[in-house]
Amino acid sequence: MWSLPLQSHEPFSPLILRARIHLMQSITNPRLQTTLTEKEARAIFDEVNVIWSQAGIRFEVEAISSLQALDSTPKRWYIKDRDWVKAAIPTNQFSPTAIDVCFVKDMGPNGFFYGEPVVVCETPEFHKVTGGAENIVARVTAHELGHVLFLQHRQERTNLMASGKNGVSLSPQEIKDARKRALEILGQSPQP
Ligand SMILES: [Zn+2]
Repeated sequence: MWSLPLQSHEPFSPLILRARIHLMQSITNPRLQTTLTEKEARAIFDEVNVIWSQAGIRFEVEAISSLQALDSTPKRWYIKDRDWVKAAIPTNQFSPTAIDVCFVKDMGPNGFFYGEPVVVCETPEFHKVTGGAENIVARVTAHELGHVLFLQHRQERTNLMASGKNGVSLSPQEIKDARKRALEILGQSPQP
């Protein structure tokens, strides 16, 4: 497995956030139907956790299940892709205790998060940078989870929060901010 060239000891006390993975299904809109298997989704989260280990944050998968997309009208050109995708995702199977992450096959943006859920495209487009992630879907997922933790875009090539690249690094300030938000999320959600 690919890993970050980091110090061997964990510099922070680990913060564990829960994630629920939804593998989107749709007969009427093939773009929404992921081809990822449960095993591949787990492998993606293993890589996400390697990336986020530099901040001492771990995303624990509480469940992986298929989610049938709503029967929506075909996308019109004037509707933003992300809005159209989001409208086709039913919310009634979302987790009350976890971050919901939906995988789809194809969409305009590589991923998005503007309030639940996180949506990730399994065929993202990107530019390679030195030391970047090999599993690009994992990188996109880790980037969107950065937005969940209130991180903003940062156009420094090798940074996790740069758009359209495969960099994975976080600055000390980003690590501090992400951990602060993770602690807030842990305080807000009921833990089992
Ligand atoms: Zn982004």
